[in-house]
Amino acid sequence: MRVSTKELFKHCYGKYAIGAYNINNLEQAVGLFRGNLGKIKTNTDPTDPAVSAPFILQISRGARSYTDKRFLEAIIRAAEQIFPEAIFAVHLDHGTEEVCYDCIESGFYTSVMIDASHEPFEKNIEITRRVVQRAHEKGIVVEAELGQLGGVEEDIKADVKLTDPDQAAEFVERTGCDSLAVAIGTSHGVAKFKGAQGVRFDRLEEIQKRLPPGYPLVMHGASAVPQELVDRINAAGGALKETSGVPEDHYLKAAQMGVCKINIDTDGRLVWCAVYRESFRDNPADFDPRTPGKIFMPAYAEYIIHKNKMLGAAGKLEEVRQFLQQA
Ligand SMILES: [Zn+2]
Repeated sequence: MRVSTKELFKHCYGKYAIGAYNINNLEQAVGLFRGNLGKIKTNTDPTDPAVSAPFILQISRGARSYTDKRFLEAIIRAAEQIFPEAIFAVHLDHGTEEVCYDCIESGFYTSVMIDASHEPFEKNIEITRRVVQRAHEKGIVVEAELGQLGGVEEDIKADVKLTDPDQAAEFVERTGCDSLAVAIGTSHGVAKFKGAQGVRFDRLEEIQKRLPPGYPLVMHGASAVPQELVDRINAAGGALKETSGVPEDHYLKAAQMGVCKINIDTDGRLVWCAVYRESFRDNPADFDPRTPGKIFMPAYAEYIIHKNKMLGAAGKLEEVRQFLQQA
């Protein structure tokens, strides 16, 4: 069931965070749905209520243009039928104004992110406000971004510019955006803290204080970049150097300070890369795309379960279902 992040955030605010996971292909989609239902090996495994979680499925502009945006949509519609017990939002990650409008009109997305954070403050407000108006007319919610994360995400490359708490309050007030992605020291990509000191909880606290009570914040660039995965990739021919990530015990701490959505993209890519590299290294005569795919889907499902545990979202699915029914 596709739902709005608005309801999900109401349920989790201050207690736990919802994982926002990017997908680009079929295997990632299957692993993601299975993981959020506690099904590991097959689609028809019983759902495990102890670990089942609501989630946000994110599609980036790069994912939409990788082949054709309709392919991913079709995969998700199929997953919706195969896993009817899943509760999830479909979210556009880092949209431009034009792509936001396309998603708003599609009737498929439940939320969009307008990222005009690279623009000057007034221009960011102007663009965000326009997108919010169009989205709200259709009952769709909007995430915006203020400040700048470092690192590289697809075609976005930036230096860190922490979110200013006073500006955050003014931005939310003037744009009417439903959630705000804040720059609190994290970066996109595999090297999160080059030249920085880590997550700036002091800044997060200042931002939360100045926003209306219960206002949902979003943390981007929150992958953990586990050394174990980096080592596996490098042992199978990879060359990932100077990596660093957000310690997973930071997730709940951030959640308690108003972060409702935590974006995890890089870690999913690392799981994919480790499995595929190892599979072809260990089976050099193999050329079947399904061999690594069969290993990846359960591995990714297990990884999602682990992440949801760290976010505090594991085991919350039935509670959320009841909450939605009462709303
Ligand atoms: Zn991001």
